[in-house]
Formats: sequence, C-alpha cells, structure tokens
Amino acid sequence: MNLHSFTIHVIEGYISSIYLVEYDDGMLLLDSGCVNDVKRIDDYCKQFINRPPSDIKLAIVSHMHPDHAGGAAALRSKYGIPIAAYKDVDRWYSGLGGSLQHKLDCYMALGVARANKRNRERILFKPIIHPDYLFDDLQVLPFFNDWAVLHTPGHTQHDIVLYHQQEALLYIGDIICAVKGKMLLPLPVMFPAQMENSYNKLASLNPTTILMAHGGVNQTENASSLFLSMKEQLSQPPNSLMRRVYRLSGFSPEIKRQGM
Ligand SMILES: [Zn+2]
Repeated sequence: MNLHSFTIHVIEGYISSIYLVEYDDGMLLLDSGCVNDVKRIDDYCKQFINRPPSDIKLAIVSHMHPDHAGGAAALRSKYGIPIAAYKDVDRWYSGLGGSLQHKLDCYMALGVARANKRNRERILFKPIIHPDYLFDDLQVLPFFNDWAVLHTPGHTQHDIVLYHQQEALLYIGDIICAVKGKMLLPLPVMFPAQMENSYNKLASLNPTTILMAHGGVNQTENASSLFLSMKEQLSQPPNSLMRRVYRLSGFSPEIKRQGM
C-alpha cells in the first residue's frame, strides 16, 4: 500500500499479520511477530524490498503475547534493531505467575496456529524483553515522529496502538480481531472496564485505514461506530472458547496489581 510518505508492506506471519512501514531512510516494524517470524521478516526484506533487515530502525511491541513480542529480542540480537513498547510490558510475565502465564500463552498460540492449519514451529521466546524505548500514553515514536502512541489497556494492561494522523492510519494490534469477516473482541479481555475506555478513546480518532494484526487492512469511513459497537460485545456472556481462554489466563502479577 503506497501512501504519501511511506509504503506499507504486509508480512504474513506464523499467526499474525506483521506490518513493515518503509520510508526512504529506514523502516518501522509494527509488531515483531512470533520468534519463528524473524526468518519470514528477513526473507521478506530481502526478496520484496531489496533491503537488509538492519534497515529496520525500530520494532514496536504492541503487547507481550507470543505473536506480537516473540520476535523482538531475536530481531535485536540478530540485526541490532531497538525495541519499543509501553513502559510496563516486562511486568506482564514477571515472577512465578508471569512465568506460568507465558507458557500458557505459548501453548494457546500453538493452538491458534494449529487451527489455522500451520505446521508446528518453535514459539517459546524470552518473556522479559527489556525494551530500548519505554512509552507513556500520547508519546511520539523515536525516529518516526509522525507516529503517536496511544495506551489502550483491556486485552492486557499494557496494550498500545499507533496512530498516524496525516495518513489517517491506525495500527491496532489485537484491539479488534476479524475472524471470518466478523469483528470480535480479542481473547481474553482481562480488564473490561479499561477496554471500554480504550474503545471510547479510539472512537474519538478518525482513521480511514485500520491495520489489524488479525484480519488484515480495513478501509473504513466510519471507524468511530466500529469502535463504539465493540463495547456491546463486552457485556455479552462468554462462549465455551472464551471460557476456556479465561481459565488459562489471569496468572500475570499485573492482574493482582490492578485489583482484578
Ligand atoms: Zn494478544
């Protein structure tokens, strides 16, 4: 997708879509994919852009789940790419509870890969990533100051989305997941009240292009009503898949810290 100041490439990762934003003087990676996606990112850069992966000046981690944070530490050690994430990310998988949650999340991610008819690949990754840049709400990105960070907790405590105002473009990570054409809540929503606030916050923006980690590129004339409509799902009773995911979630020390 060619926009005024950059080109957006979509790399089909093991589980999620990974977006590579190409500028003349560098590239920005919107989520690092699974640990096994490092090779896919490398191949894509060389085959389709004809640039080395070390031209990526920044890798964003929208949240710590295996299909978003898995490749980050490996990309940094292999190509020297700095990592940027919300300030609290390394609390999510810390301690005994966090360590258990990390393993459960890797196990659930393998289940998603299997459901998508992917072969089994390596998915375990370093649960603590020590980001080089730690974000607060409403900061701009280092190196790419045309992008702003918005803190949008709900799915986890530390989810961020990235907004490019001039291009009316939003990368939303897992804030909405499109499954078979249906716009669904991410699994799990650990903090429903905060999720509702996050949808309200996103509804106040006016993106015409929404990049989704699960569901591809969504062009819309009415993003506000999409985000507001997601709030209705928050009050609906969980189905059996949701109940199963909730049983396997909730071990992160961040859940206790939030008093949930
Ligand atoms: Zn997630």
